[in-house]
Amino acid sequence: MNESTSDFRWQGFFQHAAQPIFLLNRRRRVLFVNRAWETCTGLKLADVRGRALPNVVKWEDLDLNYHLVAAIDQEKCIGCELCWTACEDGAHQAIRRHPRGNGGPVVEIIEEACVGCNLCSQVCPVQGCITMQQVPNAFGAVTWKDYSAGRKLAPRSEQFHTATWANRA
Ligand code: SF4
Ligand code: SF4
Repeated sequence: MNESTSDFRWQGFFQHAAQPIFLLNRRRRVLFVNRAWETCTGLKLADVRGRALPNVVKWEDLDLNYHLVAAIDQEKCIGCELCWTACEDGAHQAIRRHPRGNGGPVVEIIEEACVGCNLCSQVCPVQGCITMQQVPNAFGAVTWKDYSAGRKLAPRSEQFHTATWANRA
């Protein structure tokens, strides 16, 4: 496919879509956004192109002490269990399922096992029901390079290995 937006033949088709659509090329460069996307965001393509680039760093420079866990707003939860399926099949089996009708939550995050991957919040159909919460610690940033050089990571509460956690009650 020609990556030039002027040669992009599907533009007209996507312009009629009611849902916001944006297209990236293999280098993650934004090629095209439709009118619904511009209406939804209030921005033009030229306004956003390249703005995320200063935030892109090599993986070895990421802070290993940056700790996120998922949190469920039980008031918003409709009990669809999509989050449980996603975490069970695609992440770290960090969501506990409870019997329905027991007066308690249907799903619950197991914070010790959650790796903060965000998958559950991506599949949750209820806006704002699952949010990612930072767990503060008193340790400074430690990158992979620092860790390889001998710096210690911030201790976390009891850790569950997936294989161990699979035997949970
Ligand atoms: S953030 Fe990832 S590991 Fe944590 S509960 Fe959600 S899907 Fe599971
Ligand atoms: S995906 Fe969202 S609404 Fe569905 S059970 Fe999980 S937290 Fe509740």
